[in-house]
Amino acid sequence: MPADGTGALHVRGLTVGYGAAPVLHDVDLDVEPGTIVAVVGANGAGKTTLLRALSGLLVPTAGAIAWDGAELRGTRVEDLVRRGIAHVPEGRGVITELTVEENLRLGHVWRRDKDDARRATAEVYELFEPLARRRTSAGHQLSGGERQMLAIGRALVARPRLLLLDEPSLGLAPKVTAQIMGLLRRLRDETGLSILLVEQNVRSAMSIADRGIVLSLGTVVVSDDAARIAADDDLRHAYLGF
Ligand code: ATP
Repeated sequence: MPADGTGALHVRGLTVGYGAAPVLHDVDLDVEPGTIVAVVGANGAGKTTLLRALSGLLVPTAGAIAWDGAELRGTRVEDLVRRGIAHVPEGRGVITELTVEENLRLGHVWRRDKDDARRATAEVYELFEPLARRRTSAGHQLSGGERQMLAIGRALVARPRLLLLDEPSLGLAPKVTAQIMGLLRRLRDETGLSILLVEQNVRSAMSIADRGIVLSLGTVVVSDDAARIAADDDLRHAYLGF
């Protein structure tokens, strides 16, 4: 890891909520360059809130968020993209009236280098072959898996170094979830992308993650190697309900 913190995310003491009462309390979290960190936890544990705080949609009441060795708090969304971070929210944000091609072109908006945005789009089609076959299809004609690919693909057009990904398996069949997870693993292995992956699907998430965080009632109760979390039956019973 570069000593100056390039490509690393370090969160310390993060406290954030929607009103007076915080939802997340004193959260610490690290994503080292080129790794996948899975954040799991029961409904309402605060996983989505964490991603909203990291992407600047919520303002923390306490704590520090260091990215690339500099403070991230207070960064505007468009500057976040320029700093190398892309957020794919839960529910995917695909515009269903627009075609696949048009949705991907939305990813060009924050790019100054339009030629590279076009190259990045071509790479998205190479990686997500089903999208290449459906360029002219409208978002509403896509399957759930294809929509998820499109949401991730649109984020990749910005060439992020860190992807914040909220529940990519939501509503998908197990086979399609496995396909999406395989693609995320390839992105990490082949491009060095770092991914902070929020998931309810613990097994799928831990199968591709390097590290895992378990959130319970807004606090980090476990931070460990993903393989150890996946193998820990007691932990699963205690915090994950299965
Ligand atoms: P899920 O998997 O169900 O999405 P989660 O772990 O992502 O759960 P969050 O969505 O972060 O959990 O919610 C954490 C807490 O924050 C919950 O108690 C929820 O009711 C509350 N919360 C979420 N969004 C809002 C909001 N917009 N306004 C007020 N409270 C909210």
